Amino acid sequence: MEPEPNSRVAQHVRSLPRSGIRDFFAIVAQMPDAISLGVGEPDFVTPWHIREATIFALEKGRTSYTDNRGLRELRREISAHVETHFGVDYDPEDQVLVTVGVSEAVDLALRALLNPRDKVLYHQPCYVSYHPGAVLAHGVPIAVPTRAEDGFALDPAALEAAWEPGCKVLMLNFPTNPTGGTASPEVLGRIAKFACEKDLVVLSDEIYSELTYAGEHVSITTFPGMKERTIFLHGFSKAYAMTGYRIGYACGPADLVEAMMEVHQYSMMCASILSQDAAVEALRHGADSMARMKEQYHRRRDYVVRRFNQAGLKCHSPGGAFYAFPDIRSTGLDDQEFAHRLLREQKVALVPGTAFGADGAGFVRASFATAYDKLVDAAGRIETFVNSL
Ligand code: PLP
Repeated sequence: MEPEPNSRVAQHVRSLPRSGIRDFFAIVAQMPDAISLGVGEPDFVTPWHIREATIFALEKGRTSYTDNRGLRELRREISAHVETHFGVDYDPEDQVLVTVGVSEAVDLALRALLNPRDKVLYHQPCYVSYHPGAVLAHGVPIAVPTRAEDGFALDPAALEAAWEPGCKVLMLNFPTNPTGGTASPEVLGRIAKFACEKDLVVLSDEIYSELTYAGEHVSITTFPGMKERTIFLHGFSKAYAMTGYRIGYACGPADLVEAMMEVHQYSMMCASILSQDAAVEALRHGADSMARMKEQYHRRRDYVVRRFNQAGLKCHSPGGAFYAFPDIRSTGLDDQEFAHRLLREQKVALVPGTAFGADGAGFVRASFATAYDKLVDAAGRIETFVNSL
C-alpha cells in the first residue's frame, strides 16, 4: 500500500511553511532576460588571491579532513581578527569553532542549546532561516515585531513585551537582512541589560558587520555580562564574496562551543580543508579587496535608494548589508502582487517583504549586490512599472 503523501515526514518538518520565494525564483530562472535583485549574495567572484590559495591547497594535496574544530591556524587567525575588529578575545583552543557557513553555526547553536519547547526570540523581518531553524531544533520561535515607522529598528520595549516564561535564546542580526538596519550602542546596551536580566543566551549573527556604511559596527558581545552569554556568529560569504566556499565560525563560552562541537562532529565532521585554507588567506590578506567591494556597495546603495524615492517608493538608507527595503504601500498593491506583476510586466525580480515574516508586509527587498549598470536598468524598469499603476 502506498503511504499517505508526507505521512513519513516528521511533524515538525511538515509544519514548516512552504517558502513562497522558491516558487517565485523558479519562475525567474526561466526568464533569461529578467534582472534579478533577489539573491542575497555578492555579484563579485571571490578575490583572485583567495581563489589562488585554494588552488595551491589542492596542488599541495590538501584533501583531508581537519580537526573537528577547524584548522588551528585558522582558529588563531579568527581569534586575532575578532579581537582586532570586534574587541573581544576568544581562545582559539576552546572558544572558536569553524563551521560550514553561518547557516551551520546557527543550526548547531540552536540544536546545542534548546530543549524541546524552549522559546527563541528573534526580531522580524529577518533572515529566512531563523524561524525554521528554531522549529527544526524543537524550539518555539517568537517573533519580536519591528515597525516601518522606526526604520525597522529593534525597540527594546518591544523585546520586553514579547518575552514570556520559557524564553532561552535571543537571536540578533545587525546589520539586518532584509532591512539593512543597524543598532546603536545605546539600543544594544539596553538589549544586553535585558538579556542579562532574563538570563538569555544571545546568538549574534554579525555576518554583514564589515558592510556597515555609517559609523562603526559595535558587537553586543562587548557589553558588560555579554561575552559569557553570547555566541558570536560570523563568516566569509558576504564581505569576502565567498558564498560557495561554505565557511563561517562561531565564538563563545567554552562550554557552549564544546556543545556545538559535539553536534558538529556527528553531523558535519569538519568544514572543507580547501575552504579553511582560503579563509586563512582572506583573513591575512583580504582587507583591501573587501574594502574595494564595500566601496562599490556603498555607491550602489546611494544610487538605488535615490531611484526608489524618485519613483515614489519611500526607501530609507540602509546602514549596512546590501539590501534596500522600499515601502510599496503607496502603489495600492501588496508586496506579493507588486513582486509578481513587476516580474511579469518589467522582468525585474525583487523579494516580497513577507518572505521575511509578516512584519515585512508592504515592502520588498532589493539586493544591490548587483552590477551598477544592471541597477540602472532595473531602476528604470521599476519606475516605468510604478508610473503605469
Ligand atoms: N545570516 C544571515 C543574516 C544571512 O543573510 C545569510 C545569508 O544570506 C546567512 C546567515 C547565511 O550565511 P552563510 O553563507 O555563511 O551560511
